[in-house]
Amino acid sequence: MTVHRPKSPKINLLSVARLAALFIFMYPANMRGQECNAFYKYTEDIIWNENKFTEAVDQIKNYLEEQNIKNQKVPWQPIYYKAVAYCSSGNCEKGVKNFDWILHNFKLTPSILKDFKKLKKKCTPAANISEYYKVCGLGQLGSRVSYTIELADPEISIQTKSMQSINWKDLDRLEPGTSYLGEAPMQEQLSNSTLENRKFNDENISSLRDSITKWNSSNSGMFSIMTSPHFGVVLYNDIKGDFYTSKLDELENCLRILVSQYGFSIPKDKIIVHVAPEKYTMKNIAKKMHGISINKSLIGYSTDPDRSIVVTAPGFMLGTIKHELCHILINHTWGAMAPWLAEGIPAMYEVSDYSNNNLKVLSNWRAKIINGAIDHHYNISLDSLIRCDWLSFNAQSDSLYNPRRLAVNHALSRYFCFYLLEQNKLIDIVKLYIARDPETMEQSVEENAVKIVENVLGKPMNQVQGDFQKWYREKRNK
Ligand SMILES: [Zn+2]
Repeated sequence: MTVHRPKSPKINLLSVARLAALFIFMYPANMRGQECNAFYKYTEDIIWNENKFTEAVDQIKNYLEEQNIKNQKVPWQPIYYKAVAYCSSGNCEKGVKNFDWILHNFKLTPSILKDFKKLKKKCTPAANISEYYKVCGLGQLGSRVSYTIELADPEISIQTKSMQSINWKDLDRLEPGTSYLGEAPMQEQLSNSTLENRKFNDENISSLRDSITKWNSSNSGMFSIMTSPHFGVVLYNDIKGDFYTSKLDELENCLRILVSQYGFSIPKDKIIVHVAPEKYTMKNIAKKMHGISINKSLIGYSTDPDRSIVVTAPGFMLGTIKHELCHILINHTWGAMAPWLAEGIPAMYEVSDYSNNNLKVLSNWRAKIINGAIDHHYNISLDSLIRCDWLSFNAQSDSLYNPRRLAVNHALSRYFCFYLLEQNKLIDIVKLYIARDPETMEQSVEENAVKIVENVLGKPMNQVQGDFQKWYREKRNK
C-alpha cells in the first residue's frame, strides 16, 4: 500500500484548529452516525491511501443508492470524495462537474468554497500531485458551518437611514449589507448533534423554558413562551397578549400556505423562534444558544440543525421571521439549491401580505437597490445571476468582499422569483432544479441552470431579460 500524503503539509495551524473543532458538524441527519462516519473513513482510505479511484466512485454511488438519498439531499462530503476520485483517475470532466455541483449548491463558508475552487482548478491529469494532496488534506479534516446573517425585515430596514440613501458613486461601499455570511466560531459543545438534540414538541415544551432559564438568568431573566402546532416562540420581554397571539396565528397560516405552494415538508419538531426586542438581547441569544458572535447590523438568522430562528423584532414583526422560515423549509425539504432560488424565495416572502387565505408578495425596499443599479448602469444580467455559484453570489469570489454586488444579487433574485411567480413558472423551474443530477447532466452545472430557465419560459435568456425588465418597469411605476 502506497501512502501519498504530503510529508509536511503547509496547512495553517489556525485553520486546522478551526476545522478540527467543527469536524462532523455539517453531516446532515440522514448521513450521520457510526455507519456514515465509517463509510467516509473507508472512502478516504481507498482514495488517499490506496489510490483506488474508480472503486471509490463506484462505492460512493452504491452507498448513496443504498441509503436512498435523493440527489439534492446528498451532502457535500460524498460529492467531494467523488470529485477527488474522478480527478485523480483522469476523468476531469466528471471531477469538475462534481466540484461545480458543490460550489453552486452548498452555502458553505467562503474559505472552504475557495478551497474547492482551487481543487477544481487542479483537476487535471497534469496537476502537481503533491500540491494537490496537500489541499485535499485540508478538506479531509472536516468542515465548517455557515450561518446566514441577514437584514431582511422591511419594517426595520426601511427606517435604516443608510439603506435609503445608497450612495452609488461610492463604488465599493454599501451598508448595511443585506446578507453577511459569518464564519461561526462554533464551540465544541455546540456540535451539530448537540443542536439536533434540541427537540421540542408538545410533550416536552416545558424543557424549552428550563433550558432558556438556565442561561437567561444572568440576563434580565424575563421571557415568555407561546406555542402553536408548529412553532415555539420565545419572547424576550414579558409582554404577551392578544396582539402576539394573532401574530402567531398568522405565522401558522404563512407556513401552511408556503407548504401548499412549494410542497415543503415541515420539520417533525417545533421550529423555535427567538424574538429579541433589541440587538443586545439578540447578541446574547446568539452567543448562548449557538455560540456565535454576530455582526451588529444583523437583525435575524436561522440555523438548520436545531430548527431555530433568531430575530430582533420589536413587536414580533414577521418580515424577517418569514424570510428565515423559508430558509429552514428550503434546506429541510430540498437540500442543495442554487443561490438565486435559495435566497430569492425567502426574500420574496419577507414582505408579503397574508389575507384571504393567500400570501401575496409585495414590492419592497430591495427595489431601491435594483433602481440604483439600473440608474448607474450596474450589471443586472439574469444570465450571470443564474450562473452564480455561492461564492460569486455572495460577492466573495475575489479577496475583496463586495457588499453592493451582494445586495444587487439578492434584490435581483427576489424580483426575478417574483416575476416567475406571477408568470406561474416558478414552481416548474424549482421542480426541474430539484431533479438535477451532476452525474448525468450533459452540460456544465451553470449551463444547465440557465437551460432549465430558458426551457420553462420557452425563450432565450436575452429575451427573458427584456421581458423581466419590462415587467419590472411596470411594477416600479405602479
Ligand atoms: Zn436569506
